[in-house]
Order: sequence, then C-alpha cells, then structure tokens
Amino acid sequence: MGDLIKGKDVANVITQEVKEAAEKIKQKGINPKLMIVRVGEREDDLAYERAALKRMESCNILCEVLKLPIDISQENFILALKKVNDDESVHGILLFRPLPKQINEDDVKFIIRPEKDIDCFNPINAAKVYEGDETGFPPCTPLAAMEILKYNKVNLKGSNSVVLGRSMVVGKPMAMLLLKEDATVTVCHSKTKNLSDVTRNADILIAAVGKSQMVDGNFVKDGAVVIDVGINVDEEGTMTGDVKTDECIDKASLITPVPGGVGSVTTAILAKHVIKACKLLNKQEGVL
Ligand code: NDP
Repeated sequence: MGDLIKGKDVANVITQEVKEAAEKIKQKGINPKLMIVRVGEREDDLAYERAALKRMESCNILCEVLKLPIDISQENFILALKKVNDDESVHGILLFRPLPKQINEDDVKFIIRPEKDIDCFNPINAAKVYEGDETGFPPCTPLAAMEILKYNKVNLKGSNSVVLGRSMVVGKPMAMLLLKEDATVTVCHSKTKNLSDVTRNADILIAAVGKSQMVDGNFVKDGAVVIDVGINVDEEGTMTGDVKTDECIDKASLITPVPGGVGSVTTAILAKHVIKACKLLNKQEGVL
C-alpha cells in the first residue's frame, strides 16, 4: 500500500519562502500586489478566490478583487483589464476563466503584460513553457503538481510519464514541464484507444480529465506515482478527484488526495508568481 501525499507540507514550505521574499521586497519600499479579475459569481471562481485571498494574506502579499458584472460588454471588459494592466501598484493579474460568451478570449489574451500574467493567459507565456524558458509563468496547477513531485523526490529523469488530458491550462503545460525534466511523456485524451493499457505503463500518472474517479486500480501500474489534478463537485457539494484513491493506493507508491492534494499547492505557486512578477517588473525599472 502506497503513501498518501498531502499538498499542505509542500504549500507550507513555499509559503514560508514567499513570505520571506515579500518581506525583503517591502524593505525596498515596494508592496507586492495581486489583482484578481472576476467576471460574475461562479461558485468555483469564488472558492478559488477565497483560497487565494487567504494564501496572499499568509504570505504578506496585498490582494484585491476586481468584480465585473456577468453581462459586461467586451469593450468595457477590455477597458477594465487595460486599467489593471497599467496600474503600477499591481504586479500580478489572475483572470478567472472561462469568460462569459460575449467576450472573445482571442481578442483579449494578449492584453495582460507577460510580466504580470502570472497564470499563463497570454500566449507569450504559453510559448515560454514550450521553449523551457524560465522567465515566463507556467500555469499554477501543473507547476503545483511538479512541486509535489520534486518535494517527494520522485525521479523524473527517464521515467515513463503519462498525462491524462490535453487542455492548455493543465494537460499540455504539464507534459512540457515533465519533458523539461527528461521524462518520456505520453499525452492521452478522449480519443485515446485502450487508455488503461497506456496508463498501466506509467511510472508517473497525472490525471487531469475532469471525470470523477475515472482512474481505477486497472489504470495503475504497481509502484506508480499518481497525481490527481481533477476537481469534480457533485450536486451535494462533495468534491472528488479523477482517481479512485481508495482503490489505487493499493497499487501506487505515492498518491495525492482530493481535496488536500494539488489544489492546496496551487495558491502557494500563485503567491510565488506574484513575487517573481514583482521582481521582474521592478528590475526592468531598475529598483530591485
Ligand atoms: P478540460 O475539460 O479543459 O480538459 C479535459 C481533458 O481531459 C481534455 O483533454 C479531454 O480530452 C480529456 N478527457 C475527457 N474525458 C476523457 C476520457 N474519458 N478519457 C481520456 N481523456 C479524457 O479540463 P481542465 O484541463 O481545465 O481540467 C482538468 C481537471 O483538472 C478538472 O477536473 C479541473 O477541475 C481540474 N483543475 C484543477 C485545478 C487545481 O488547482 N487542482 C485547476 C484547474 C483545473 P479531449 O481534449 O479529447 O476533449
């Protein structure tokens, strides 16, 4: 039977590092600040917002929320986003997605300056993930999964790593981050044939499909490391991951739970990115 790896320990280490970095920056008269941009009142946005506010507070980072109405026109949305972008007191911008239908993401995705784009909305940052250029900001969730692997000293070099899911937010950047660490990566999706045959070859299995408990014991090789990125909430508000943890833990060597796994590290990465953005912006202006 494998070990359940909680995200809390990793998150605590990162939080402490970020807090110390924030203090040093403050001594130079700069107040690191995150601006969350939320359109409407989606439950999952609100839950993430609460967690982010709490994390920023414990890291000593200022955090404000710009709340925009769900029926905002694209023109007014662009104006609001540009204002935040130009605000010199704001170092990192987190824009919740998906945006409402009247706003075309293709028309707005280049607006946030790459140096402030801490969750990889701007394609310039996405390109940096693919190039392995560390001056950018990979999306916080796959980076959180990587931090969990590194904290637990999982050997990535030469490993067979299988990523379930190919979204721009999780699956694809996750594959690139693993590749950068010399893993041999296979990316699966809804059209993949004989899925469990593929996943049973994985030394490291990352589940990011958004299908509650789809990954059962049949998907997992003995001794594999299983990272469950999925967040699925049913009508009663119960949260489950993409992995049947109870079943897979018998085979896996390490496995993350949901809740309490990747999600708890994501906000710590967000805080780390605000500090990185703050340094990047101020170095450009010759302050730090
Ligand atoms: P998307 O819906 O954008 O992507 C899901 C991916 O899974 C797609 O590539 C899809 O394939 C694939 N997929 C769907 N069904 C199957 C199937 N039956 N077999 C194989 N592949 C399948 O989701 P996201 O990437 O945004 O999110 C994935 C999960 O991660 C969700 O549960 C989400 O809630 C969670 N999440 C967690 C975060 C955290 O902080 N822990 C943050 C962000 C997301 P195809 O491309 O062919 O459609």
